[in-house]
Amino acid sequence: MSAIETIHVDGEWRAAASGAEREVLDPADATTLATVAESDASDVDAAVAAARRAFDSGPWPRTPVAERAALLRRVADLLQRDREEIALTESRDTGKTLEAGRVDVDDVTAAFRYFADLVMNESGGRVVDAGSPDVHSVVVHEPVGVCSLITPWNYPLLQASWKVAPALAAGNTFVLKPSEVTPLSTVHLVRLLVEAGLPAGVANLVTGAGDPVGARMSEHPDVDLVSFTGGLASGTKVSQAAAPTVKKVALELGGKNPNVVFADACATDEGFDTAVDQALNAAFIHSGQVCSAGARLIVEESVRERFVAELARRAERIKLGRGTEPGVECGPLVSRQQWEKTRAYVESALAEGASLRCGGGQPEPAAHRPATGFFFAPTVLDQCHREMRVVREETFGPILTVETFRTEDEAVALANDTEYGLAGAVWSSDAGRARRVAGRLRHGTVWINDYHPYLPQAEWGGFGKSGVGRELGPTGLAEYREAKHIYQNLDPRPVRWFAG
Ligand code: NAD
Repeated sequence: MSAIETIHVDGEWRAAASGAEREVLDPADATTLATVAESDASDVDAAVAAARRAFDSGPWPRTPVAERAALLRRVADLLQRDREEIALTESRDTGKTLEAGRVDVDDVTAAFRYFADLVMNESGGRVVDAGSPDVHSVVVHEPVGVCSLITPWNYPLLQASWKVAPALAAGNTFVLKPSEVTPLSTVHLVRLLVEAGLPAGVANLVTGAGDPVGARMSEHPDVDLVSFTGGLASGTKVSQAAAPTVKKVALELGGKNPNVVFADACATDEGFDTAVDQALNAAFIHSGQVCSAGARLIVEESVRERFVAELARRAERIKLGRGTEPGVECGPLVSRQQWEKTRAYVESALAEGASLRCGGGQPEPAAHRPATGFFFAPTVLDQCHREMRVVREETFGPILTVETFRTEDEAVALANDTEYGLAGAVWSSDAGRARRVAGRLRHGTVWINDYHPYLPQAEWGGFGKSGVGRELGPTGLAEYREAKHIYQNLDPRPVRWFAG
């Protein structure tokens, strides 16, 4: 495969029909990391045509489930074989640490194995009692068809795999588009699908921009489902583009996630240390470029000063640098555009009355850190309130805002006061209170005395403007299927509705 042949259609690697290319940057120093093909709508049309043929007349949708599951397991094994190489690619492309890249490969491996097990353990169709011994009524599930899969830049391999694994397990064919900012690990994933023996035309890949490539994938009349992970603005456009052809749409969008800390969680030194440590992790892992980042700290007034002072002290000590360098805890932001967006949020917050406890922009120069990288110092903004843009909108950067409450009801109201509803956490040593509050939070994932873990067996997705549908878990597989009711009359007779 040459450098620019990153489009995969009908089993062949190729360059863009137009010959166009795009440079992919290393965010740690802004140098060119790789060159990829820049697709346009004609490449999408070719990829959709291949996926359509493979679905309508190819073997994959009719392949026995045991063989489909075996292929997913081979992909999982190949991911582990290439673990270091993929982790390095992901680290250099996104800026995340090498260790975070390894965690992603392991998580993705688990997702492929989970969906293989899930389809193998199914009992087939569901027999429905039609109230007559002369009727056999069964509901079966069939693949939905050709899927457009569109993913963002923060967890490229992971987001692609959460779509690819269930789509394949269910017997679909697809066209996949990674973010133009971070396409490299997805190219590797498609190489592994080919190596694992997936028939030509089942997995097609286009590399290129949201518009026109993602837009064409969303509107294409021969596509049956579009599954999109990304920002609210693009997700809205995907929905609109998909509407005229009434295709199924699944959206995993952003979040503005509350991390609610009750004073009782901080009553002991150990409890305080844990809650601060996890609030730091919630907000700043991968420099805050996480859809479920705990970007809103909602802390009980009585412990606020102690909590925020310690949090800011630790945030200032986070070691920023190139993700591949040993000892580095946080990499750069993914792009200059993301850096400028983050800085603009800090400026607007300060103009609206927030107080800066640490960070706010470029970190101090350091010998180990390239001066040209998109590094942004972890930032804590105190004295925040609901009317501020920085509290309402997803910054997707290393910014933690601090709000306070006095009562449980107030904590719940603040935590739910967002148009999003992806994830949130509650910290309390009172088990009853923690469970009560978790039950009242309008978010798709709620952690109690923890932050960030997820399981392939458990659904992931959001309430409100955080999206439509779920990934992972049984629902994550159901997204890629149509239910069909087959009603068989074993003893057909005239119904005589009409006298004749
Ligand atoms: P983005 O919306 O800019 O891009 C996401 C993908 O959509 C990219 O592949 C992009 O090329 C494509 N795209 C852009 N415009 C399009 C259009 N008009 N039609 C079709 N496709 C289009 O998002 P991003 O900046 O890459 O990623 C960050 C966002 O992703 C954040 O909002 C984050 O919260 C969200 N995200 C959500 C989850 C989740 O599970 N809910 C996970 C990761 C990221």
